[in-house]
Amino acid sequence: MSAQNVQPYDLLVVGAGPAGSAAALAALQAAPAARVALVDRAAFPRDKACGDGLTWSAAATLRELGVSEVLRDAFPIDGFTITAPAGAPRLSSTLPRSAYLLPRRVLDARLAAAAVAHGAELLRARVRRLAVEDGYVLVDERWRARVVVGADGAGSSVRASIGLGAHPRRQTGLAIRGYGPGRPGQGGLDVRFIPGRLWPAYGWAFHSDTFTNVGVGTFDVTTCPTRLTLVEALHAQFGDAAVDPASLSGRLLPLSSGGPRLGLGRVLLVGDAAALVDPLTGEGVHTALISGMLAGRAAVAAPGAALPAYRHAMQVRLGRRLRRLRWAATGYRHRRAVTALVVAGAHNRGLASTITGLAMGGAPGTVGHLG
Ligand SMILES: Cc1cc2nc3c(=O)[nH]c(=O)nc-3n(C[C@H](O)[C@H](O)[C@H](O)COP(=O)(O)OP(=O)(O)OC[C@H]3O[C@@H](n4cnc5c(N)ncnc54)[C@H](O)[C@@H]3O)c2cc1C
Repeated sequence: MSAQNVQPYDLLVVGAGPAGSAAALAALQAAPAARVALVDRAAFPRDKACGDGLTWSAAATLRELGVSEVLRDAFPIDGFTITAPAGAPRLSSTLPRSAYLLPRRVLDARLAAAAVAHGAELLRARVRRLAVEDGYVLVDERWRARVVVGADGAGSSVRASIGLGAHPRRQTGLAIRGYGPGRPGQGGLDVRFIPGRLWPAYGWAFHSDTFTNVGVGTFDVTTCPTRLTLVEALHAQFGDAAVDPASLSGRLLPLSSGGPRLGLGRVLLVGDAAALVDPLTGEGVHTALISGMLAGRAAVAAPGAALPAYRHAMQVRLGRRLRRLRWAATGYRHRRAVTALVVAGAHNRGLASTITGLAMGGAPGTVGHLG
């Protein structure tokens, strides 16, 4: 049957990661009778290269979406250590509130299941092409939708098919992670800045009782990182973590400092597809959830004006934070500035708590500028 003969979807979401599931959930919470499809090329549960860390803001957005139970057995992260690029000194602190560690294989499957429980249809297909026809978006000449949300991650096909092009390379990172055994009773986050030719770069080890998530990331792919250089850096920093080589997996990080792109016409972009990864930490689940939630609401509230409504909601919610991060990302390129910050933070509690707050998602933003 051709797409013209079938009932159109009110919203079709491409990609069922955190951004896509949040979009489907929020749309169905706002309009329970809406016809919503969530299309992913993978079968769930599926792995996703990630540090598996969830900040305060990510946890708060899960609460806002009414799905806090997805964190039911997440491992609480209550303390961290940051080592300056030159090795010592170290900034160690406890967190006033827990962050969480939950494998994406588990988190994403639970979020997609929550969207289905609210009425979304979860379909398995790789989306390749979009076209606009008679006020509808035609998806692979197979489905029609009033609004499409592109939540298909870094290297988004939806973004390419609406002609918004690739993200600037200097504002794109690359990170790789692997899993090692847990350290019962020694949970926490160990961050180590990595000087040398991958700079700006850092490595992390999230320790839980049952597993350790270890990784390294560079925040500028014009340093020409390869899988080999990243794996070597990982072993140099965390050689004792006994990482299973089969678990190593990497992905690009489209950083928000390169300018988020929120869509075109009836196609809205969210999460990594919109380039919303934090340029200081590489964290992207928080903004994936928020952007997905706001896009989902806008899509069902006013299908013909969904993009301006989504843009406005993003300005209000994240504009100020994204502008601050863009500014801070410039300083991040200077190794001495990062060392000075870690040294100062090691001796100044107020500064340490400001750094922690920023890394955990910061205060809600006010009006700013988004692309
Ligand atoms: C190594 C590494 C470590 C990281 N660590 C952290 C961390 O600790 N904390 C954090 O918050 N962030 C972290 N991030 C960033 C975070 O993983 C991303 O920002 C986040 O996954 C973005 O979510 P998303 O829903 O936009 O995209 P994704 O999670 O990438 O989901 C995209 C979905 O789209 C599907 N898809 C793709 N193409 C198509 C297509 N053509 N058709 C149909 N389906 C498609 C995919 O199968 C996938 O399910 C890390 C990233 C990396 C690479």
